[in-house]
Amino acid sequence: MANDPANSTHIRSREASAGRDLVYPPAPVPLVVGVYDNHTHLEISDGITPLSVAEQLDLASSVGVRGVIQVGTDVATSRWSAEMAAREPRMLAAVAIHPNEAPELESAGTLDEGLAVIDELAGRPRVGAIGETGLDFFRTAPEGRAAQFRSFEAHIEIAKRHGLALQIHDRDAHDEVVETLLRVGAPARTVFHCFSGGAELARLCAEQGWYLSFAGPVSFKNAATLREALDVAPRSLLLVETDAPYLTPTPHRGRPNAPYLLPHTLRAMADHLQTDVAVLAAQITSNTELVYGRWDAEPVVLTDTARDPRISPAGGLA
Ligand SMILES: [Zn+2]
Repeated sequence: MANDPANSTHIRSREASAGRDLVYPPAPVPLVVGVYDNHTHLEISDGITPLSVAEQLDLASSVGVRGVIQVGTDVATSRWSAEMAAREPRMLAAVAIHPNEAPELESAGTLDEGLAVIDELAGRPRVGAIGETGLDFFRTAPEGRAAQFRSFEAHIEIAKRHGLALQIHDRDAHDEVVETLLRVGAPARTVFHCFSGGAELARLCAEQGWYLSFAGPVSFKNAATLREALDVAPRSLLLVETDAPYLTPTPHRGRPNAPYLLPHTLRAMADHLQTDVAVLAAQITSNTELVYGRWDAEPVVLTDTARDPRISPAGGLA
């Protein structure tokens, strides 16, 4: 299975690489107060010289990014995320079937089977969230939407049953995501990953107590709408993420992304809010631990496997 990180490469699409500078950017100045990257995909390799999982986490630690949520998008990557998190103290896992995968599983007749695996993984130690799930009307045509809704609703139920946070992927589907959350009943901790709305959606999230996780685009010159959302979002609901290897923040837009570049996004947010970076970092770290729990709340299984050079974004977990 081309998507299985356990036996093949999981590579950012070649089309997306055309004309890009594929060298990983230099590390930013370290943060004084650390933060967590609450949404990343370490299994997807990018760049001329891909970084291993251990290299990515070591680089992150060196600039004050204390840990990550490693996010699965299908059965294979969710299982990999849960297995990696179980042995890596700087990682918690999120498990789900991505909204763009759900219609494919539904047509193959395997969506229920997939959801059952997610439900099983949700009960494992160091799995801190169900995600990414939600609705994507940008990449999925109308005929796939019924499967997306069914999958999203099932993930909401799994999150509630296991008392886990929910990470939502919402692309061009704000109204329907909100409507579904209100109709089905949102989990106590609900996160809009890579928040893509404006002030109106931010106000709605504030009313509901839903978290807004900002990624690299908040630092883009043309993203005034996102910064308007940032202005009205309560600080107590802010989170920060990379969504690496995608969405690299300014000043390295277009180059490969990794958790160690998170300080750029945090600094762009602090700049815009005209607040001290350390104060914002302390607030966001406290928010992050409220949403997912502490990274050291459940012990890792201490093996050397997390440092095994064979476990890399290209090599997968043996
Ligand atoms: Zn993602």
